Amino acid sequence: MARRKIVAGNWKMNMTPSEAVELVNTLKPLVANEEVDVVFCVPAIDIIPVVEACKGTNIQVGAENMYYEEKGAYTGEIAPNMLTDAGVKYVVLGHSERREYFAETNETVNKKMLKAFEHGITPIMCCGETLEQREQGVTMDFIRQQVKVGFQGVTADQAKTAVIAYEPIWAIGTGKTATTEQAQEVCADIRACIAEVYDQATAEAIRIQYGGSVNAKTAPELFAQNDIDGGLVGGASLKPDFGQIVNYK
Ligand code: PGA
Repeated sequence: MARRKIVAGNWKMNMTPSEAVELVNTLKPLVANEEVDVVFCVPAIDIIPVVEACKGTNIQVGAENMYYEEKGAYTGEIAPNMLTDAGVKYVVLGHSERREYFAETNETVNKKMLKAFEHGITPIMCCGETLEQREQGVTMDFIRQQVKVGFQGVTADQAKTAVIAYEPIWAIGTGKTATTEQAQEVCADIRACIAEVYDQATAEAIRIQYGGSVNAKTAPELFAQNDIDGGLVGGASLKPDFGQIVNYK
């Protein structure tokens, strides 16, 4: 069974609500590709206008984070049902920037994963090693741990619908894309890890993206790899280049 590609933009902390609508209007015609799932993951305050601007298009909207409690005294946080009510279908969880600057751990990512599934939001769970870890040869041990803890308590049927984004930290925002071989190797190993935790059918269904300085030039070769089912794109998702990335073939 061929997996459907998924190309997601991660806007990070960019775009005011009015800039966001303008960007959607620019990108809309450029990403109109029905063969690929196209997702714009946007800052919380942009979600409502972006959902509105994406109506009638092939674009689905994602959040960049979410809290794992239902409601209550958690000043500044966003609950899962706020996202679903606003029309959000995906949520990026455990991005390395959240792990680094906002103290996210594998355990908090896991709680958010379980909540996302409970609310029918598809998680895009990020994992990836530092340059130091790569040089020490512990890349896969580290990523396997991120994946195993992140998916604790997630059923096979839920896992089949999930998205994992492999993003080597040294490649994020640096202009240094991992080589196609490096990216494919880790994505294949993540799939093998899912097969061990669950089964072959789950491993074959789950979608694994590559992320880290993906651009219009590198996307075609990366996305053509057996175990790479698309990309999570930061910088280039804010530009018309994103259209070329979506139409990578
Ligand atoms: P980048 O970001 O494409 O700007 O490297 C990717 C990401 O952090 O998701």
